[in-house]
Amino acid sequence: MKTINDFNFHQKKALIRVDFNVPLNDDHEVTDATRIEAAKPTIIKVLEDGGSCVLMSHLGRPKNKENEFSLQHIVDTASDVLGVHVKFVADCVGEEVSEAVHKLQPGEILLLENLRYYEAETKGDRAFAKQLSKFGDIYINDAFGTAHRAHASTAVIAQFFPENKCFGKLLASEIKHVNKVLNESEKPVTAIIGGAKVSSKITIIENILSKIDHLIIGGGMAFTFIKAQGGDVGASLVEEDKLELSLDIIKKAKKNNVNLHLPLDVVAADSFTEFASTEIDPIDAIPDGWMGLDVGPKTNELFARVISESKTILWNGPVGVFEMEPFAKGTISLGNAIAQATNEGAFSLVGGGDSVAAVKKFSFTNKVSYVSTGGGAMLEMLEGKTLPGIQAIEQ
Ligand code: AMP
Repeated sequence: MKTINDFNFHQKKALIRVDFNVPLNDDHEVTDATRIEAAKPTIIKVLEDGGSCVLMSHLGRPKNKENEFSLQHIVDTASDVLGVHVKFVADCVGEEVSEAVHKLQPGEILLLENLRYYEAETKGDRAFAKQLSKFGDIYINDAFGTAHRAHASTAVIAQFFPENKCFGKLLASEIKHVNKVLNESEKPVTAIIGGAKVSSKITIIENILSKIDHLIIGGGMAFTFIKAQGGDVGASLVEEDKLELSLDIIKKAKKNNVNLHLPLDVVAADSFTEFASTEIDPIDAIPDGWMGLDVGPKTNELFARVISESKTILWNGPVGVFEMEPFAKGTISLGNAIAQATNEGAFSLVGGGDSVAAVKKFSFTNKVSYVSTGGGAMLEMLEGKTLPGIQAIEQ
C-alpha cells in the first residue's frame, strides 16, 4: 500500500482529493469540521516536507452551480483548522485554476471550487479527470467518504499518475483498521449489527460470518429474526419478505460456528413517539399494537457479557431508536460495554452510518479504538467490496 510516507513532497505540488463535504447552516457556516480535521495530517505532512497542496472536494449535490454549495463557504473554517491561510479559486478546471496553481508556493494551500459543479465529476469523465490531473505532481486520495464512488477525482484521475499516486493518512488508516477487524483480528471477534432493516445489512453479515465468533443482532432488524422463529413481535418493525433470509442466516451462523445473540427482552412502546407508554416485554411476547423500540435490561447484560469476553469488536448500527431519549439506554449500555472492553485491551471499530452518530451523541468517540469517517464507504468495505477509489491507487 503506497502512502504519503513513501514520498517526499519538497518543491512538489500535491493534488489531494479530500472530503470537505461538511454540514453548513442557513448562514453557510460550517457546523461540524470533523472532515476537515480528518484531512489535516495529510496536508500538514506535505507542507512540512516543503511542498504545496491543491485541494479538490465536492460539497453537497449541486444541480446548477448553486451558491449554497460553493466551497468558498468553508475557506475560513479550513484556514482555522489547518492553521494556514487557504487560498481559493472559483472554479476547479480552466485557465484561472491553472494560473492559481502555477503561482502556488511551497507551504501554501489552494482549494478548488466544488467538483460537482461539473456533471463530468460524478460521471467519471476521463477528459475532466485529465484536466484536473494537470494541477499536481503527485495525486493523493484522502477522501474515504467517496472512495466507493468511481468519480473523476476519486478514481479515474489516478491513471494519469502511474507512479506518483498514493493514499493519504486518513484513507490508509481506514483501510488498516478494517483489515485489523476483518483479516488480522485477535479472537474472539464480535460483530454487533443493529439498525433498522435486515435488507440493508445482509451483505455485511454474509461477508463477515466466516471471520467472527459472535454475532450480536439488535435494533429493528432483530424482529424479523424473532418473527421468523415464531415469536410474537406485535407492531414492531418486520420485513416480511426477509423472514426466510433471516432463518438462512441463523443456519449459516451455526455452520460457521458463530454464536448468534438475539435480544432477550425489549422496551416496548404503544406508539413511535418520545411520549409513548412503555413496558419491558420478552422479545417474543410483545402484545398486539406494541412495538419494540429498544433492547431491555436482560439483553443489555447479555450483550455486555459477550463484549467483555471479546478481543476484537465491530459495531455497526444502534440497537434501539437512540434518537429518542426513552429508547437510547440499550445503545448507551452497548457503548459503555465496548468502551470498557477497549479500556481492557480489546480493539474496537465503529463504522457505517448511524452508529457513528450514536457514538458522537453519547461521547464514546475517544473511548473506542477507531471511529470510521465514511458511512457508505465503510459499509461497502465491510460488505467485502473493492472500492474504486482504493483500487485506482493500488493498480
Ligand atoms: P441503520 O441506518 O440501518 O443503521 O439504522 C439506524 C436506524 O435504526 C436509527 O435511526 C434507529 O432509530 C433505527 N432503529 C433502531 N432500532 C429500532 C427499532 N427497534 N425499531 C425501529 N427503528 C429502529
